Amino acid sequence: AVTTRTPLIAGNWKMNLDHLQAVATVQKLHWTLKDAGHEGDSVEVAIFPPFTDIRSVQTLIDADKIPFALGAQDISAHDSGAYTGEVSGAFLAKLGVTYVIIGHSERREYHNETDEVVAAKVQAALRNGLVPVICVGETAEDLEKFGASAVPAGQLKAALAGVPASANIVVAYEPVWAIGSGQAATPQQAQDVCAALRGVIAESLDADAAARTRVLYGGSVKSTNIASFLREPDVDGALVGGASLVVDEFAAIVRFE
Ligand code: PGA
Repeated sequence: AVTTRTPLIAGNWKMNLDHLQAVATVQKLHWTLKDAGHEGDSVEVAIFPPFTDIRSVQTLIDADKIPFALGAQDISAHDSGAYTGEVSGAFLAKLGVTYVIIGHSERREYHNETDEVVAAKVQAALRNGLVPVICVGETAEDLEKFGASAVPAGQLKAALAGVPASANIVVAYEPVWAIGSGQAATPQQAQDVCAALRGVIAESLDADAAARTRVLYGGSVKSTNIASFLREPDVDGALVGGASLVVDEFAAIVRFE
């Protein structure tokens, strides 16, 4: 990837690890990377624990000055009010959260999140000073019918409606067929779609935003394939699910070089 964009390695824990396990995991990941001399400015590490873990992880990160960014896995489209069970971006911002995953395929599928809902959540993130990690990706069926880029490009275009060119965002290309399947996209497939998504950013925002914004690949990323993705010019990092739960494996991904 282009060196002006700092690679981002993001660990999406999904609904795994309670707050006690989260503290132990973050502590161990920090020690592992520190011992390897691998906590620096060359790669940004972000972890996305469940909501109930965030306060505990924030306290640990602050106390031990651990250089990991904190992210949430979802956000309400609203900032406060009668929305039982939802979590506001304002609350997340107060807990030192930097990033929020929006439109993950599991939310699109199990919670019927449409492109409109995703766009409203992107606005909620930006309104509260959070960086949305906008997830897009095609199903196996889409891939067969429309090719790889059409569906993710359409999803991204919809998510960027009304987003100012100056906005700080991250985009994650996650083909649904590659998530949790053990069957990652090829580096060339990831490159092609990430380049197409960068084109959508240029069109929807502007050329400067396209040059600056990190576009990640996600879907069965592991320590043995991360380097091949990061070598591609338009792949600026990875959104890692299963492999982010195993400290040694996630540390090996962060140390991809
Ligand atoms: P996986 O998940 O790495 O387990 O395939 C990726 C994701 O869903 O973000």
